[in-house]
Amino acid sequence: MPKRITILGSTGSIGQSTVQVVGALGPDYRVVGLAGNRRWGELLAQCRALHPSAVAVADQASAAAIRPKLNGQTELLAGPEGLVEIARRPESDFVVSAIVGAAGLKPTLAAVEAGKDVGLANKEALVIAGSLLLPLARRTNARVLPIDSEHSAVFQAMASGRTGEVHKIYLTASGGPLRTWPAERIARATPADALRHPTWDMGPKITIDSATMMNKALEIIEACWLFDLSPDAIEVLIHPESVIHSMVEFCDGSVIAQLGAPDMKTPIQYALTYPHRAAGCAKRLDFKALRQLHFEMPDMERFPALRLGYEVARKGGTAGAVLNAANEQAVTAFLEERISFGRIVELTERVLADHVVDPHPTLDTLLAADAWARQEVNRCLKD
Ligand code: NAD
Ligand code: MG
Repeated sequence: MPKRITILGSTGSIGQSTVQVVGALGPDYRVVGLAGNRRWGELLAQCRALHPSAVAVADQASAAAIRPKLNGQTELLAGPEGLVEIARRPESDFVVSAIVGAAGLKPTLAAVEAGKDVGLANKEALVIAGSLLLPLARRTNARVLPIDSEHSAVFQAMASGRTGEVHKIYLTASGGPLRTWPAERIARATPADALRHPTWDMGPKITIDSATMMNKALEIIEACWLFDLSPDAIEVLIHPESVIHSMVEFCDGSVIAQLGAPDMKTPIQYALTYPHRAAGCAKRLDFKALRQLHFEMPDMERFPALRLGYEVARKGGTAGAVLNAANEQAVTAFLEERISFGRIVELTERVLADHVVDPHPTLDTLLAADAWARQEVNRCLKD
């Protein structure tokens, strides 16, 4: 019986890489569900190639456009409810959560609630609702397997010891396209500057997050939830080559690292084949070409988002939902050229400072905190 996979966000960067990985893994893996938003032409092409039993289209106009073009084999589910429905349908064993942003939260919770193993690329779901998602997974026996490359690396390195034997983890970061820029120039970076990532080819939101280093802030919070660590046990290390994907230092001083080419197909495949490994289609490292690896300490002055990551990881409660929503809203405004690069983190910090944290939130409180933070950013933009 093949492993039956639903890919949420199948038209995105992670989604398309997942389709390639599943294709290369052969007949033991099969795509049974796809979900996307507006790129319905791409979704339709994926349906024609993969013959899933269902496709969910969040955007209603795109759902209407794709409906007459689907053949009888693939059922269409529309709107945000369609995403939740496809995530929990019984015909899949494994859900790849690769929608970008808070839109991925409810479908990810639905998959976990249905007891499915989840390959998690959508780090935002953990940042917003780690306090609900992981206890839910324990109750339903769903496994949450990291796809984020750093967390996949930590997950693999963790197998060398026990949780109580971990001294700290090093989350590596490329430093993004503005790593060497002075502060005044960073503040004025254009979307084109910030979208020019040196090592990874990713969707626009995470690429901007890499440029502000908010991506690493989100990953600090993600790591705290996934590995049950205190933020004090997490150190960020700039490593421009993106070859060491992260490391675990154990109590005896041994440091275990996972290395690989900067290719998301490796962590995607590991989540799919876990606890086994397969040859697959990811790029491989060539040490002769590589020769040297470099490390730098992060600069919290030029990249203040990192500080926010630690702060929010310590605060917990609704703080993650506010950080994430304010950042999403600010990144959208930046990409639409309504605010300067420097204001992304400035606005996020301001909204966070005005938020009174609820330490024991429910899903409704988290969603309300998310909505409040977006409104606050919009209000600041009008000032
Ligand atoms: P992307 O922008 O390339 O793709 C996003 C996908 O989400 C698309 O399929 C889009 O249709 C879908 N989507 C967007 N809004 C939606 C909505 N409202 N409803 C339903 N679907 C919606 O993004 P990406 O780079 O593939 O990133 C996806 C997730 O993976 C993000 O959470 C990101 O942080 C994480 N991630 C990405 C990478 C990478 O290399 N791209 C690495 C690590 C983690
Ligand atoms: Mg990452």
